[in-house]
Amino acid sequence: MTQPGLPLSRATFDRAAHRRADDAWLAEAWTRARVVVISPKSATPVVRDGSGTRTATWDAAAVPAAAPRRFLGMVGDTVYFAATVEPVDAAQWQTLRAFGPHADDLDAGLLVSAIALEQWHQRHTHCPLCGADTIESLAGWTRTCTADGSAHFPRTDPAVIMLIHDGADLALLGRGPQWGEGRFSTLAGFVEPGESLESAVAREVFEEVGVAITDIRYLGSQPWPFPASLMVGFVARVDGDPAITLDPVEMAEAGWFTRDEIRQARDWTDDHVEPEPARRLQAIPPHFSISRYLIDRWLSGEI
Ligand SMILES: [Zn+2]
Repeated sequence: MTQPGLPLSRATFDRAAHRRADDAWLAEAWTRARVVVISPKSATPVVRDGSGTRTATWDAAAVPAAAPRRFLGMVGDTVYFAATVEPVDAAQWQTLRAFGPHADDLDAGLLVSAIALEQWHQRHTHCPLCGADTIESLAGWTRTCTADGSAHFPRTDPAVIMLIHDGADLALLGRGPQWGEGRFSTLAGFVEPGESLESAVAREVFEEVGVAITDIRYLGSQPWPFPASLMVGFVARVDGDPAITLDPVEMAEAGWFTRDEIRQARDWTDDHVEPEPARRLQAIPPHFSISRYLIDRWLSGEI
């Protein structure tokens, strides 16, 4: 099932997980594979043509022999692997943050899977049970301990992200301490062990801005592999007093903004844009983020 509104969630390839243990098939498939290459810092080579920007997949023969081969999946007879290599021409490599808004559904799905695996492998080189080295197994989808043989699976860390509104024309947005003046987004936070998603939504909102909420509803999810988040999106309504009591560690500022104020905000970019002194809310996250998906659905009156 795909979610039309969430750009990084529209994976259109078959993961074909039953092939991951079939070494003979994998070896043959590699020879005809399209390889999604990423750098250790998760940039990927891109090409621009008349129809837009696409990832530049490599022939398997161009991938250094020492690079781990991770089987991503298939589209028809086309086989996709991922490999991590050093950038050859840095100018043509882009991060997901830069490339994401231009990626089509197949590129986005392949890339988030390749990056999520790479981020996990980088951080799990040793066995959490005994401390010995682990090695990649199951075509990159597990690591196996070289001492005790235990298998370890890629992490996915759930984080909740929520659009809080007042039931009328105001939404609650916050600004993180590192974001710079004028940049606001929906509130978000990690789910703790032993906690439900809905409880995490209510707890994070109360911790960050001191506001009680009700009518918490799930809207959709999107992977964000930096390093292992699954962003789970909700909408909820303030319950009682809307006065904000800020947690100064988590939030630099937060406020209630009207639809008109939010519509006038520009997209966040990494480019420097001169702030407009008269306006507190200057920018909101770009279109491929789940935060923007929640904001846009509220602006349109759908939620
Ligand atoms: Zn071990």
